[in-house]
Amino acid sequence: MTKVLKFGGASIQDVDSIKNVVSIIQSFKNQKLVVVFSAIANVTNMLEKVVDDFVRQDSNPLVTLNQIKELHHNILIDLFEKEHIIFDTVNNLFLEIEWVLEEEYNNEYSYNYDQIVSVGELLSTNILSAYLELNDFSNNLLDARDVFKTDNQYQSANINWELTDKCIKEKIKDFPVVTQGFIGCTSENFTTTLGREGSDFTAAVLANILNAEKVIIWKDVEGVLNADPRFFSETQLIKQLSFIDAIELAYYGAKVIHPKTIQPLKEKKIPLHVRSFKDINKSGTIINSEINNNKKPSYIVKENQVLISISDLDLSFIIEEHLSYIFMLLSNFNITINLMQNSAVSFSICIDNHSHKIPLLIEEISKKFSVYYNMDLNLYTIRYYDDESISKVISDKKIFLEQKSRNTVQFITS
Ligand code: ASP
Ligand code: MG
Repeated sequence: MTKVLKFGGASIQDVDSIKNVVSIIQSFKNQKLVVVFSAIANVTNMLEKVVDDFVRQDSNPLVTLNQIKELHHNILIDLFEKEHIIFDTVNNLFLEIEWVLEEEYNNEYSYNYDQIVSVGELLSTNILSAYLELNDFSNNLLDARDVFKTDNQYQSANINWELTDKCIKEKIKDFPVVTQGFIGCTSENFTTTLGREGSDFTAAVLANILNAEKVIIWKDVEGVLNADPRFFSETQLIKQLSFIDAIELAYYGAKVIHPKTIQPLKEKKIPLHVRSFKDINKSGTIINSEINNNKKPSYIVKENQVLISISDLDLSFIIEEHLSYIFMLLSNFNITINLMQNSAVSFSICIDNHSHKIPLLIEEISKKFSVYYNMDLNLYTIRYYDDESISKVISDKKIFLEQKSRNTVQFITS
């Protein structure tokens, strides 16, 4: 049965890590494999800078583009002989970005973003596929855009399941397959992206449609931890998680898995194994349909939050009509609420700080309501909390808002 392996950018950041990944893949020889790659480490961020420079026109996008070229070129010269065709392939991919940059900016930020940023995954997969071939691991490089059919909501495109199902079944016949995460294609053949960190989702969709036996996501951490090591000094590996718990953790902001990843796996009961590419002897975390009764606290932190409190101009009650208007605005801005709470006279929402959208949103709301807001806050979530875990989180912090349910408590703090 098919296995889907997904490697993120951190696993392919330089020549040594690429060689490590190749040896991991070789250890699955003779199995029906689909291997999904993200862009090489940091390349997506750098490509985003190219887009921003192109759009803002205050600095030259070619400066960062040249750094990205150099980074890839340095990897190529170590992995391949000078005559290898991969040098041309890579050059041609960069040309596609240059063509976009030569055009006058057309005010379609998200469209331009997708045309430019998607090249990161095209580069990494072409390089990895060729290097696997060189190491006697022949493989079929599949352009994900030939199978991942999406709408034209650029930067966060939604896949058309019916068409994608059909294309995947038609095009994926011979294994092993190497393909890009994160990218897709509209019905008019324009490239789209599925949202930052979307490669996990790509792997899950492939697994769902191919009825895979298992998905393995290879990370630079041991597996899913009960807390983010950037904020907590003591962390523990969670050995097994139910699909539901994994969805909740990802939703509250746990960084290990993209929130959309679990649903396609849960539907077909396909286990997800999160394990370390640095130490393949570690057992990692298994996410599957088994319910885990060992409910220890997990801690999740979302940084850079904005808390907006909205009240009626004459301090009357916030009624349904007001709420539906506020929700409509949020939906128009494509902003997700991380936490909300209402009291008699005010309604509060906590959202990510999308720097370009927040001032516009606040301006819109202020036309009808009075608005207070605080920036630079953190949203702490404790799943399966107890007194001890709560005091660990809030002891030294100023709390702006708190919300408790049976399994979860959340605090917005400065
Ligand atoms: N390369 C993309 C990103 O960094 C997609 C991914 O890594 O999943 O967001
Ligand atoms: Mg990634």
